[in-house]
Amino acid sequence: MKKQQWLLYLCLFLVVLAGVVFYLAVPYPTVPVSDIAGPKLSVHFLDVGQADCILITAPNGRRMLVDAGNNGDAELILDYLRSHGVDTLDVLVGTHPHEDHIGGMDAVIANVAAGRIYMPKVSANTKTFYDVLQAVRDKGLKITTAKAGVSVDLDPALQIEILSPRRERYENLNDYSVVIRLVYDQVSFLLMGDLETSGETELLESRVELQSDVIKVGHHGSGTSTSGRFLKAVAPRYAVISVGTGNRYGHPDPEVLDRLEKACEVLRTDRDGHIIMETDGKNIVVKMSKG
Ligand SMILES: [Zn+2]
Repeated sequence: MKKQQWLLYLCLFLVVLAGVVFYLAVPYPTVPVSDIAGPKLSVHFLDVGQADCILITAPNGRRMLVDAGNNGDAELILDYLRSHGVDTLDVLVGTHPHEDHIGGMDAVIANVAAGRIYMPKVSANTKTFYDVLQAVRDKGLKITTAKAGVSVDLDPALQIEILSPRRERYENLNDYSVVIRLVYDQVSFLLMGDLETSGETELLESRVELQSDVIKVGHHGSGTSTSGRFLKAVAPRYAVISVGTGNRYGHPDPEVLDRLEKACEVLRTDRDGHIIMETDGKNIVVKMSKG
């Protein structure tokens, strides 16, 4: 081979190599969060370990908190609210009176102005529960009973329906879980609390609309929730599991996780930290922040 020809081949090779490197190094354009122009709904699934806490900011700026972590999470939640400029909660929901859902609620009520407070009509003989009642009383507030058929008024652009509890009495406190379906234009969220399979069956039988783009999976991904039938009816694009690293319950259950991973994209607070979803009612942008 002549020297000139050899040099030509070398140049060609280098040009192709540069092209490949450039192609690999420059990612496809993604839609950054700031690109959602105009009004948006944001839903923050806070990383509160083995517990639940969800902050919702409506397009009109009003705020709603669903659950408030364990007793030990109060400072984390108050700091999070402060750092996001939240000094008023228009709506506060305690899905059911277990510590990992209402633990920080007394501190939230004492420190952040709260409008309407929703809880299911059931009590628990625990200090945590009485602390919440005392905080409500101290602020001169009252609790509105959360039950199927109640609509939550936060923003006229949103439809917020309570789907459960559907009965007066249940055996198990988890079954009293307040289930919320939140719709903004074409995007919907289903927040399951700790509802278990029997409650899911009741929802399926009620024939209420369950299909949702995002599901906050019931009971921290436990094997007692998220039946195949229920998941099929919801048909989510995203599933969020609020769960603590190395928790003693073995949540999430491997079978449930497998079922979810086959159906949609799974996000977990133990792995992903705080999970934030923002939507203009059409697109969903997901952000995660550890720590
Ligand atoms: Zn729980």
